[in-house]
Parts: sequence; C-alpha cells; structure tokens
Amino acid sequence: MDYEQFFASKIDELKSEGRYRIFADLERHAGAFPRSTYYAEDGSAKEVTVWCSNDYMGMGQHPETLAAMHEAIERCGAGAGGTRNISGTNHYHVLLENELADLHGKQAALAFGSGWMANETTLRTLGTMIPECVIVSDSKNHNSMIEGIRHSKAAKKIFKHNDVRDLERILAELPRQTPKLVAFESVYSMDGDIAPIADIVDVSEKHGAMTYLDEVHAVGMYGRRGGGVAERDGQMARLTVIQGTLAKAFGVVGGYIAGSAAMCDFVRSYGSGFIFSTSMPPAVAAGALASIRHLKKHPELRERHQERAATLKRRLTQAGFPVMPSVSHIVPLFVGEPVACRQASRELLERHDIYVQAINFPTVERGAERLRITPTPLHTDADMDHLVAALKDVWARLGLKAAA
Ligand SMILES: *Cc1c(COP(=O)(O)O)cnc(C)c1O
Repeated sequence: MDYEQFFASKIDELKSEGRYRIFADLERHAGAFPRSTYYAEDGSAKEVTVWCSNDYMGMGQHPETLAAMHEAIERCGAGAGGTRNISGTNHYHVLLENELADLHGKQAALAFGSGWMANETTLRTLGTMIPECVIVSDSKNHNSMIEGIRHSKAAKKIFKHNDVRDLERILAELPRQTPKLVAFESVYSMDGDIAPIADIVDVSEKHGAMTYLDEVHAVGMYGRRGGGVAERDGQMARLTVIQGTLAKAFGVVGGYIAGSAAMCDFVRSYGSGFIFSTSMPPAVAAGALASIRHLKKHPELRERHQERAATLKRRLTQAGFPVMPSVSHIVPLFVGEPVACRQASRELLERHDIYVQAINFPTVERGAERLRITPTPLHTDADMDHLVAALKDVWARLGLKAAA
C-alpha cells in the first residue's frame, strides 16, 4: 500500500467537502480577555476579539487562578512525577478531589487528565465490569461518552434526544433485574438546550437504572455554587455519577467524576485511563482548585454571564439573524452549509478582527452547520455592538439566510 497516498487522499476528501480544519493560531493575553493576537497564514499578526472560547467565565486568566498556579509551581515544580499510584499523588490532587466532592454534594470525586478521559474511562469501566449492563444513551451525547460506551462492549440503546418518553419505552422493555445505566448531558453545547434532569432521573429510578450526567458545559455556570444544572434543579443527590471538566468554566484543564465513595473507589481501582496515565501537574490542580473556590463564592458572575447571553440573543434576534432556540449561555447562529459557514467565519476574522469558529460535521450533523457564539461576563456592550455590525456585513456579503 502507498501509505502517503492514502493519507493525502483522505485529507482531499475533507477538503472537497469543505470541512478540512484549519486551526486559528492565537496567542491569548492574560488580563486582556477576550482579546488575543491572531497569527495569519501569511505571517502577519493582529489583535482580535474571541467570541467562541469555552473559557466561559474568563477564569483561565483570573488573578486568583494564576496566583495559585504560580505558587504551586514554586513549591512543587512542573510535573506530578508519576501515576497516582506510583508517587504521582500530590497534596493538591487530594484537596482538589475534596473540593469537587463538596461542590456536588457527593461522598467522593476522582480527577482525570481531561473531561474526555473521565467520560471514556468511567463509562468504559462501568460498562465492562457490571455483568449484563445495558447503557441507555441520549442520541446527542458527546464523542467521549460514545467512545467509552463503545469500548465497554456493553449493550447500548439510544433514546431520542431529551425525550423522556422514548427513554421510558426503552427502559420498560428491558428485564427488571438487568443492570442499566442512563447516560446524558445537562447543557448540550452545540444547540444550547438543557436536559429535563428530574424527569430523566424519575424514570431511571422507576426502572432501577443508574444515572450518569455530563455537566461539562454547566459546572461553574449554573446552580447556587456553580455545581451545575443538577444543583440548580435540586437533583444532585439523586444522580449516580456527575462528570465535569476543569477546562471550560474553570479555565484550566482536567476532568473528573463525583459520586459515592464506593463508585469512585471502584473507578479508581479498575479504570485504565485513570490508573495508567500520569496525574495532572500539581499547578494545574492548584489553579483549578482556586477557580472552583472563586466561582463558588461569586454567583453574581453567573448572573452577569446569563445577562450577557440573553442580551446578545435579543439583539441578534431583533436584527433578524437566525438564532437557534438555546435556553443556555450558548448562542448558535444557523448557517446550514459548510462552505458558507467557514467563509463567514473567515470574513469575520479578516474583515472585522472577530473570531467565531465555524462548526461543521462531525461536530454537528450535515446541514446544521453554524457559528457558535459564547458570550462571557467580560464581553462588553461595545464588543457586542462591534459583533452585531460585523455579522450584518458578513451576512449581506455572503447572502446568508435570515431568521425564518
Ligand atoms: C469538552 C467536552 C468534554 C471533554 O472535556 P475536556 O475536559 O475538554 O476533555 C466532555 N463532554 C462534553 C459534553 C464536552 O463538550
């Protein structure tokens, strides 16, 4: 086989479909959020305003996060020095896991290298180890959950997105004594819709199923202390596993699960992605810890975040843009075509110094391409004026669809 030819032909496929990915080369500026320097392919550089970061609260540049990381680097150095079992458990990891357990009102928590690894490892381990387990999964679940379920080789059933009746139908068809796990997310990050957590837990409990909730796009942003939508809805205690990330609203990197002491101990003891990977650098754990503690104490940041998102949705809707019906902090603008979507993103960057990434297949379905805008508490009214004017220009130039 001509291997090089094979690789090149697979890349050509992506290019012909208009979904070959070119990464924006950015340099973030601590203290100037949401501004970054953008390095263009021709070698030039300029300042841009970023409107698509998952650093939803700007905590990745918060002075308390940075101070904690600096201090931990001075005290402990760079890396953790091992897996958790072989010299790599630093005191900061222990403090972080205690903090996460407290955030979610659970007995225990377990930190991973990323949210992706937390999902893959936990679902894989539960699905592999529990005899005859059936995993019932929402149709829009994230790739990390899908991969974990697939690798577990457990039987899998998919229920229609956020459809409690369809979930109930599937659960009712399974034998009562069969172990079951219902896996879903709270905030779905591409559409910005939110799961009916209480209803899903009701039917799961009724049929004797465990529940697994990915709160990656909600932790730090919803609930009185930033415990997520399950905290907001008073449902945390009912969930078997709550999974989250330290990389989005908490602004650092890493992932975790929270739950009972026995469940966490089980994943700690049997989960390959936990056991065989070097633990996160102590400074990362320290930064995440500071960020979680800060957001716990500052509900006004969550209010400001929601206000910014509501204001942007209102302004774009009034201006006739096809804002998709999000009930969260995520503001998706429908385009519906991959080449036009990428072109809109490019023109915002080149003509207006605004960065909003185009979202194409496989992140969303074909025909559902969109610009996904994520306002933060640090985006000002002037930033919004600039964004709305820039979108008007680009929509007119490219003849993109208005709201239906
Ligand atoms: C980003 C994301 C993850 C993975 O989290 P990382 O910490 O970025 O690895 C998991 N689930 C969902 C829904 C996500 O969007």
